[in-house]
Formats: sequence, structure tokens, C-alpha cells
Amino acid sequence: MIKRILNRILNNIDLSKDEQVRFLGEIIKIPAVAPSSGGCGEWDKVELIVEWARTHGFSDIERFDVEDLGVPSGSRPNVVVWLKGKRNAERIHEDMPRLLVITHTDVVPPGDLKAWDSDPYSAVVSDGRIFGRGAEDNGQSLTAALFAARAVLDNEILPVRDVGLVMVAYEEIGNEKGILHLMNEGFFKKNDLILVPDHGEPDGRLVEVSEKSLAWIKVTTKGKQCHSSRPDRGNNAHRAAMKFGTMVDEALHNRFDHRDGLFDFPLSSFEPTKKVANIQNVNTIPGEDILYFDCRVLPRYRLNDIITEMRRIADTVEKVTGTSISLDPVLRDEATEPTPADAPIVKMLLSAIDSVYNSNPYPGGIGGSTAAAILRRAGYNAAVWETVDNTAHSPNEYAVIDNMVNDCKVFATLFTDGV
Ligand SMILES: [Zn+2]
Repeated sequence: MIKRILNRILNNIDLSKDEQVRFLGEIIKIPAVAPSSGGCGEWDKVELIVEWARTHGFSDIERFDVEDLGVPSGSRPNVVVWLKGKRNAERIHEDMPRLLVITHTDVVPPGDLKAWDSDPYSAVVSDGRIFGRGAEDNGQSLTAALFAARAVLDNEILPVRDVGLVMVAYEEIGNEKGILHLMNEGFFKKNDLILVPDHGEPDGRLVEVSEKSLAWIKVTTKGKQCHSSRPDRGNNAHRAAMKFGTMVDEALHNRFDHRDGLFDFPLSSFEPTKKVANIQNVNTIPGEDILYFDCRVLPRYRLNDIITEMRRIADTVEKVTGTSISLDPVLRDEATEPTPADAPIVKMLLSAIDSVYNSNPYPGGIGGSTAAAILRRAGYNAAVWETVDNTAHSPNEYAVIDNMVNDCKVFATLFTDGV
């Protein structure tokens, strides 16, 4: 990209700061909550976004709406605003991959209103931030992506590849009428360059390419209750559970001990966390004991192998103690194949971030789970990145305005890559 032109685009983005704040404010003011959470869906918000896009010169807008009689509009809207590249205009670069930025329009409900300092849908601007439900998740990046595309369009630059701003519904409650619908419609192509700006860190350096598997295992140990002065008449479930807990803790850490430098915490974690109260009084031997393990496992291991190892220890403890132990995975989310750290989208993104922020960004993994996992599971490479304070789903959710504007510059740099 000719530096002078890129600078003009980035300068335009700086000048659009107030407009970006106004736009984000407008979309925050339309609650796009799922009907299952008591809301009316995303329709009105998407109408506003599409109207904005048309007004600002985007003529290529594709819809993938899904019928839903549970909302007043009867439809859950999915929309792609295209910034068409040279490929179509000049018929060159026929096999040039498309660049897709996937954001979501729905928001979670505000939760306890008393915990908010302002109305969650009033979009209060203060202290360089804009407050409201959906400000960070996912309004900040949705706004930044639209304004980046507009700045490129306004400067009459043709990207070398088609850039699609994919805005999906239904992300907060399972994706069926959102990204999964697009997938079923055959929208995605294997060589698409996909960015999901829906998770990040306050310093904006982490480009997420990998996630750990997650399993919550409930461990129920059954013995026989009796008076604590006569242990011979019962069987202490709590002692057996403690034995199991310490043995399994050691066994899992020993056996699944690989370090992966991609992750800030480079090991798999196996943490005994919640302990359910067994008995109210001190002088009774408990006949039942319930505890939980929270396991965050590097993608190289399968959750089945973790659970099999836990079962093996449980069998041993059952034999030694005469109790019975059941293992119940109450939550189980298997990690997908990571996006390679040298995949084209990751390399392009790292370079765009560094050119705007000069921050030495790096590819890495997180312990949680994002919608990019759906794409990775289906064999698409996706990178996850944005600059956020991680206030999503909390009371007083906010977006830092400078993060939005600077991330917008990263998007514009990405959109004009190779020009
Ligand atoms: Zn989100």
C-alpha cells in the first residue's frame, strides 16, 4: 500500500472518531436480546446498520435471514456488507481469498439493573469510554470494521480481495440461526481469511489462535453415614473423596504435563474447585461427598483420555475404601485444531496490528472458548483479536473509544493489504 494513501485513510479514521461514537451509541440504544432471554431479537438494530451502510455507499449487501416466529419481525437477520475487491472489478486475482470480519449483533441481557451506574441502553459517554450493554461485546468491533471499510471506500481504494463484514445474529445463545446457518448455506470457503474480533486483551497484543478444552467434572462419592465415634459402623465418603482428589490431582498433572508456549498459562490445569457441603454437624461421618474439578486442557490431549484416567483412579479408590465414586462431566467442550500461528490471516493481522500500535503482537492461546471454535471445528482458519478491557457480560460494560478508533485503523490496514 502506498504509504501516502494509507495515511490519508488512517487520518480519515481519526476524523471519524465522534461519528463512530455516535454510531455505536445508536446501536447500543436498540436492545438486541434473544427472545429466550425476553428480548425481540436483532432485527431493528440490523435495519439501522444496513440503512447506514446504504447511505454511505455500500451497494453490495447480502442477507441470510432465518425465520423465527418467536420475534416480532419473524426473522433473525444475518447480513454481509461487502467491500468488493479488484478481483471482481478487473477480473484479476481470480483465486484471491476473501477477507471476512465476523461480528455479532445480539447482546446478552443487562442482568441486575441495580449493579449498573447508568441505563444499560442509554450509551453514556464519559472518561473516554462509552457505556452500555453490547458496547464492547460486540459493538466496538462491529463499528470499527464498518468505519474502516467506509474509509477505504471514501478514498476510492479497491482492495485486492473481497472484504466481507459479516454481522451475525444468535451468537450469545448457540449460533444456530447465525453463523451455523451461514455455514449450512455454504457461505464460507476453505481459503477465506477469517477474523473474529470478539475477544482480546487490554494491551491488544494477543492474537488468539488456539483454545484449551474445558471440562467440569462432578465427583460424587458414596459411603455410609454414621456417628463419628463409631467409624466401624459406617464408611466415610469424605475421606475417600479426599483420597481420590489428591490422587487424581497428582496423576493428571504427571500424565498430561506437556507445556505449550502459545498459552500464557502453558500447562493443562486440573483444579479441584467447588466443594458441596456434606453434613451440618461435626460429629457425623458423611455418607456422601460432592466435589468438582475444573479442567482446562491443552488441545493436544483428548478430554476422553482425561476422564478415563480419572475413572482409573476412582476404581482404585473404590477398591481400597469400599465406597462408590461416580464421575459426571457437567460441562464438556473439546478444543478444536488450532489455527496455525503462521496461517496467512494470522501473519497479516500481526503485521497490521504492529504497524498501527507498534506493540510487538503475538499469536497465542486462551483458556476460554469463542465462536471461532465453530469455524475451526469445520476446518476454517480463524484468528481472534480486538483491544478490549474485558467488560463483556458485566454490569457497566464499556468500550474504550481510543481502542475502537485504533482497532479501526488496524482493520483498514488489513483491508488494504497488498494494494
Ligand atoms: Zn461476543
